[in-house]
Amino acid sequence: MSGVNDIRSAFLNYFAANGHHIVPSSPLVPRNDPTLMFTNAGMVQFKNVFTGVEKRPYQRATTSQKCVRAGGKHNDLDNVGYTARHHTFFEMLGNFSFGDYFKDHAIELAWKLVTQEFGFPKDRLTATVYIDDDEAFELWKKIAGLPESRIIRISGADNFWQMGDTGPCGPCSEIFYDHGDKIPGGPPGSLDEDGDRFVEIWNLVFMQYEKLPDGSRLNLPKPSIDTGAGLERVAAVLQGKHDNYDIDLFVALIRAAADLTGADPQGPMKASLRVIADHLRASSFLIADGVLPSNEGRGYVLRRIMRRAMRHAQLLGAREPLMWRLVGVLVREMGEAYPELQRARALIEETLRLEETRFRKTLERGLSILDEKSVSLKKGDMFDGETAFTLYDTYGFPLDLTQDALRARGIGVDIASFTDAMEQQKAKARASWSGSGEAATETIWFPLREKLGTTEFLGYETEVAEGVVA
Ligand code: ATP
Ligand code: MG
Ligand code: MG
Ligand code: MG
Repeated sequence: MSGVNDIRSAFLNYFAANGHHIVPSSPLVPRNDPTLMFTNAGMVQFKNVFTGVEKRPYQRATTSQKCVRAGGKHNDLDNVGYTARHHTFFEMLGNFSFGDYFKDHAIELAWKLVTQEFGFPKDRLTATVYIDDDEAFELWKKIAGLPESRIIRISGADNFWQMGDTGPCGPCSEIFYDHGDKIPGGPPGSLDEDGDRFVEIWNLVFMQYEKLPDGSRLNLPKPSIDTGAGLERVAAVLQGKHDNYDIDLFVALIRAAADLTGADPQGPMKASLRVIADHLRASSFLIADGVLPSNEGRGYVLRRIMRRAMRHAQLLGAREPLMWRLVGVLVREMGEAYPELQRARALIEETLRLEETRFRKTLERGLSILDEKSVSLKKGDMFDGETAFTLYDTYGFPLDLTQDALRARGIGVDIASFTDAMEQQKAKARASWSGSGEAATETIWFPLREKLGTTEFLGYETEVAEGVVA
């Protein structure tokens, strides 16, 4: 049975044998891209290569890219612990052609890898193509020999990729693995596609157009390929598991957390163990890449991830800071592939330990307020936004932590009154500076800004919040 480390190597070596240059993962904090919170796909480090601004000495590349999807356009934070296939941190395996090969060879390379090297049974595989991409439809028939019934045309924006409002864009084609009829969920494009029976393994993006500011599209003279396959999802299939959290790497992390807390990995607290294992990875890799917990921007996303895991540790009855004690297991599992984890180990442990020590001081009190104020609520009710704001402001509960805590009971949070309470506090603070000079700005505004975060962070927080309530 292949472990995650072997599968990663097998992927990279396969593409190297097919003329691709193995490029190391780029950091989670994107270089020169302030618009992006975290690296969330393999192509991020190649953006300028695709647009032609940057030249590389190779035209084909392959990577295993560290990704975090816990903010911005792609946010899987609320899926963690609840779906079998989402993490906040994951590795995206990819192959890239910079104006070299295109659709036919990309499909051929992917198909051969999954069916021949990985040995996935053909009758478990389904492909999607963009609604009008007849070329891809024909290629899946010809190269893969898939019957038409298992090549599904999809119209949504999900199957048409674009880098931004302008620039390279094109149709996608995705490979799904069918985990069998014991698991609920319909095929891609069906009404219950959100189930976990058909899991999206690999996304192939065919960059064939350039979108201009007036909305029109030009054919790119040299179309390119960008693909992404989730390493953990591939590993699940190869290890005969349906659930990503049952693969070797997660079993090791979950067992360590279970040993320290006495929780049963298959028992009622299963979701908490998964959240802890997932968030440990995200936090550790972010810290290794230079992010530290703070009250705004990237540091605040890290803090939210850490504190959310820490609440789950508390739920498991941990009496002492827990997260930092799991770092050794993570380093053992992933440190060879990512030496930055080994180098930053002491910093990661210290950051986690300090944050958990501090947060535990207010966590218990905050949780008892949360219990008190929600005791009479039932499924479908809304938790008062003003109390959610007090929890945020006084007890250090990020809004999504409060939402996560209430989610199991089907209770949402009144975001409008949360935002109002925050606005009111800001207005009060503003009123108290009027007439003051610079000194006051420094003493009042900066600490307050630290506390509330920037406008950018507020917008972002609201976006996250809406996702949960909807
Ligand atoms: P899904 O529809 O399952 O959320 P996606 O369409 O958002 O996936 P892509 O943006 O196409 O994902 O990313 C390429 C690949 O990366 C996916 O096919 C999947 O294998 C993997 N992937 C995406 N998001 C996650 C995640 N949160 N955790 C683990 N793997 C992921
Ligand atoms: Mg997604
Ligand atoms: Mg998808
Ligand atoms: Mg996709």
